[in-house]
Amino acid sequence: MTEQPRHVQVAVIGAGLAGLGAAVQLKRRGLHSFTVFEKAGDLGGTWRDNTYPGAGCDIPSHLYSYSFAPYRDSAVRYPRQPEVLAYLRRCADDHGLVPHLRYGTEITALRYDDAAGHWILGTADGTEHTADAVVTAVGQLSLPRYPDLPGLDEFAGTAFHTARWDHDHDLDGRDVAVIGTGSSAAQVVPEIAGRVRRLYVHQRSPNWVLPKPGERFHPLLSALLRTVPGAHGAYRGLLFRRSEAVLLPALRRGRAAALLAFMARRHLAGQVPDPELRARLTPPFAIGCKRIVLSSEYFPALARDNVELVTDPIARVTEKGIETRDGTLREVDTIIHATGFRTTEFLAPMEVSGSGGQRLDEVWRHGARAHLGIHVPGFPNLFLMYGPNTNLGHNSVTLTIEAQSDYVAQCVQLLSGHAERGERVVLDAREEALTAWQRRIDEGAARTVWTDDCTNWFKNADGTLTNNWPYKTALYRRLTARPDPAALRLLPAGRLPAR
Ligand code: NAP
Repeated sequence: MTEQPRHVQVAVIGAGLAGLGAAVQLKRRGLHSFTVFEKAGDLGGTWRDNTYPGAGCDIPSHLYSYSFAPYRDSAVRYPRQPEVLAYLRRCADDHGLVPHLRYGTEITALRYDDAAGHWILGTADGTEHTADAVVTAVGQLSLPRYPDLPGLDEFAGTAFHTARWDHDHDLDGRDVAVIGTGSSAAQVVPEIAGRVRRLYVHQRSPNWVLPKPGERFHPLLSALLRTVPGAHGAYRGLLFRRSEAVLLPALRRGRAAALLAFMARRHLAGQVPDPELRARLTPPFAIGCKRIVLSSEYFPALARDNVELVTDPIARVTEKGIETRDGTLREVDTIIHATGFRTTEFLAPMEVSGSGGQRLDEVWRHGARAHLGIHVPGFPNLFLMYGPNTNLGHNSVTLTIEAQSDYVAQCVQLLSGHAERGERVVLDAREEALTAWQRRIDEGAARTVWTDDCTNWFKNADGTLTNNWPYKTALYRRLTARPDPAALRLLPAGRLPAR
């Protein structure tokens, strides 16, 4: 059934962590005319989609939560997927977002209408809505990446991606292959290793792994958090400062890197006594180049008798299983793709065109860039949440997303103030601001280990860092504290003047 077209002041696209955060801040600034369009039938984004066994957050919930909606459990340190999803539902309920959520509406196209000075949102069912401003919050980890392997279609068994887990497919007693060894695989493998008959873990390149503290707090710490006033806030502050002061310098090739590498090596040596297996699990690149895996269960699972770490490259998939380049065919009835996400495509598969009809995929042909990760010049009143270079490799992404949501709400408030005075204006970033921003990103990127010779999901095929923020979180917060008139242009709604 097609929907009725409607005009909204602000269209938020996506009801995950970022979309909900933006919606909360809009309301806090007295802006109530907005709709959150969500393609699925539920909120939660990546925390709705990733339901694989063992799915959870390896950032403590005290930090993986908004400051305006503290998630402070005195018992649980690391929340599992159902707990994070429940937290997001609570945020939506507590902040009165539910009436704003419009489920089952996939926005497939965004087109700035120069004549009308507003955005046209095309939906999957063909209906077109319009909006004065658009906030995209579609995530960086939302499009599953499937491996491009010959013969994949010929496989006669069951295959699925970790982010699209097939809960109707019982794994008990089966022969299973997992492709990929990132954070998702490291959580899945220990959960299923004891249930399946054989498990082959196909590793293309190893990851550095650090031990993960217990999911639950030690009873003493738990009692402290429960009873000492201010303890929860102090704990959050401690986690934040440790990430800024130790982890970021390590990722920027500082001396702390040696400490982390030492811890990772000791963890590996302690859990994997077999020197041959240990050698295959030792990465040849600096710690942090790929996202560090946090797990105390992954290595012991690999050492089980029914589990084999396969490091010979995959040659092809056949009807019966996976054949490696040495000619070995390992027959399986299930293939699990733990192969990550199409992270550098950002707003895809939405087709986005700005003033003068310029296409975003054309503007971004050498890599996604946006001033503050939020504004793309020539795309007025379009605000990106969790856009290019705003992912954190050392701290909780809720921090940059919260900073953005308040910043975007301020921009909308500014526009709204003009509209109330009968002035229809749009906000566009200056090209010079983006150039200066990109220079800052590139300089920072060159100092990090992310641009070293390893594959990771933070850079595009050219090796340009497109996803991560290479500086302190505190700096990002400062830069997004309020809209900077020197970086932005306020123009009459309509076709933008030449830049
Ligand atoms: P990922 O880190 O991108 O890992 C994908 C894995 O698949 C890599 O080992 C990669 O090998 C392998 N791979 C990809 N294509 C392949 C192919 N054609 N043949 C063989 N192997 C292939 O993806 P992820 O594990 O889903 O994690 C993504 C991100 O999600 C994480 O980095 C993290 O930020 C987030 N996450 C977080 C948590 C948490 O606890 N907070 C949990 C899960 C995920 P190469 O390394 O050789 O490319």
